[in-house]
Amino acid sequence: MSATPATSREWHLIARPQGWPTPEDFALREVAVPEPGEGQILVRNIHLSVDPYMRGRMDDRPSYIPPFRLGEPMDGGAVGEVVASRAEGFAPGDHVLHGLGWREYALVDAARATKVDPQAAPLSAYLGVLGMPGMTAYAGLLEVASFKEGDTVFVSGAAGAVGSVVGQIARLKGAKRVIGSAGSEAKVRALTEEYGFDAAFNYKDGPVVDQLKAAAPDGIDVYFENVGGEHLEAALTVMNPHGRITVCGLIAQYNATEPTPGPRNLALLLGKRIRMQGMIVTDHGALRPRFVEEVGGWLRSGELKNPETFVHGVENTLDAFLGLLRGENTGKMIVSLDR
Ligand code: NDP
Repeated sequence: MSATPATSREWHLIARPQGWPTPEDFALREVAVPEPGEGQILVRNIHLSVDPYMRGRMDDRPSYIPPFRLGEPMDGGAVGEVVASRAEGFAPGDHVLHGLGWREYALVDAARATKVDPQAAPLSAYLGVLGMPGMTAYAGLLEVASFKEGDTVFVSGAAGAVGSVVGQIARLKGAKRVIGSAGSEAKVRALTEEYGFDAAFNYKDGPVVDQLKAAAPDGIDVYFENVGGEHLEAALTVMNPHGRITVCGLIAQYNATEPTPGPRNLALLLGKRIRMQGMIVTDHGALRPRFVEEVGGWLRSGELKNPETFVHGVENTLDAFLGLLRGENTGKMIVSLDR
């Protein structure tokens, strides 16, 4: 293990993006590596998470999570190795999950760090399939959408961190048919050939509603919404009576500068008795033990695949984030600082 350096790099938001973020909105700054105070640990980050919700935190508006502050370090999920500790129960060499990403070294209140076991799963999995995105998929499908065996499930953003897990859980739990949409031929192929989806299509190839109708000749019972816009309208059209929609994300509008139009066919909610419900993953903590046991088990047995895309180096964190918004990831987008 090499000695802790005197300085570390961290990303700051320096201007609020208008529409698509640009490099001018961010700065990578060099700062002194601090010493831990009482109850704190110093963590060498090994993997950083970049996630779509971070785009919302770049705007200054009321939300379920506070905005990033201008001129201050950004944060987000990270896993790393404890290099110094003044907290009971944490020792150098331990691995932890915490919320101070977007930087090389993090000074973390031990109360806000969770120990993770690198022998049980690759460390990056704690940011993806075994972490927040996996939990979102699990809770959003099983609890919010009230999935039941025999349902036909459609998920958008299907080749991403959340979507790829939604489709696989649906299959493992006995879905009649699992359908996914994604933004490239390679992703569509991976969905059916590697992740067990029954059908998949590229939403850029033609109207979503036509492609969805072809993929779901008997309609859909559950729609797991990651995208919004045309996808939601298509799902409403193709949905069976008493269908359920989990509104997990609306990434198609995260960089919009004008309000985006709603689906034109909302009246279908009524006649088809469709239930549509938004979700925030942090509301579903009570499910965590079941999630860890079930998803952890599928991961260990190889029944559930864990696609990941790695970008290397803290200096490339912003590129990784922008790449995520552009669809350059399959599965979880991870920034690896591993040497
Ligand atoms: P992903 O790994 O799915 O990455 C984002 C993907 O979105 C890209 O790879 C891209 O794939 C797709 N995308 C980008 N722009 C568009 C567009 N205009 N139309 C269609 N697809 C687009 O991210 P996550 O799995 O982490 O998140 C998925 C969704 O879930 C997001 O909307 C996110 O905000 C939401 N989320 C919500 C949570 C909650 O608690 N409610 C928690 C976690 C995530 P492609 O190549 O297919 O276009």
